[in-house]
Amino acid sequence: MSLGLGSNLLGSTLISACGSSTEKATIVKPLKTGFNQADLPYEYAALAPSIDAMTMEIHHTKHAAGYAKKLRQAATNEGVDQAKPLEKVLEKISKYSTSMRNNAGGHYNHELFWQIMSPNGGGKPEGELLAAIEVKFGSYNDFKSTFEKAGADRFGSGWAWLVWNNGSLEIGSTPNQDNPLMDVSDFKGVPLMGIDVWEHAYYLKYQNERGDYISNWWDVLNWSKVAERFDRIKGQV
Ligand code: MN
Repeated sequence: MSLGLGSNLLGSTLISACGSSTEKATIVKPLKTGFNQADLPYEYAALAPSIDAMTMEIHHTKHAAGYAKKLRQAATNEGVDQAKPLEKVLEKISKYSTSMRNNAGGHYNHELFWQIMSPNGGGKPEGELLAAIEVKFGSYNDFKSTFEKAGADRFGSGWAWLVWNNGSLEIGSTPNQDNPLMDVSDFKGVPLMGIDVWEHAYYLKYQNERGDYISNWWDVLNWSKVAERFDRIKGQV
């Protein structure tokens, strides 16, 4: 089963090595997202008990599928080349419609979300990523509480993020389906991981207890995927 991300690894290296390109270097080249949903890399029930099967199925087949479908409609209407990475659109999202902003963000955010979770998740980051976390936040536990607070304090619907920006890890959040790659975002960077704090991501199991959802989410966080993104991004931004 394809995870989507892996097949694009070579492309980033080639682009980075192309010194003669007149195209402006951007922060998003190391990672490329398509306009279609990738297969979910595990079963709907695989993340239980942190996330229940019904929430996963509705989230993936209804909410996320809807963003992907509406993104392709907006892209067709607005003349976007869907063969190019979605990140190209995100970094210039102010040039497009509100529908493009909501659905390009919605699609990108969920594609990332599925990939950085795993039934074999949990534990702690290691190596360079752990070192960078400790440099920035003091300790892994301080990092965790800062990230949890970002998710808990996001009023209404949105996402909390760990990003790499200008040589540093940062934690923040965005409203609705915005993300830190968007030129309109107050919080910027390349996402290493993000948690969906829309009620549709947790309400069936947790009702109003967003904090419990966030604390249990650590058990399914795929640190090796986050570290893979970190390794690819850190030399380029
Ligand atoms: Mn969602």
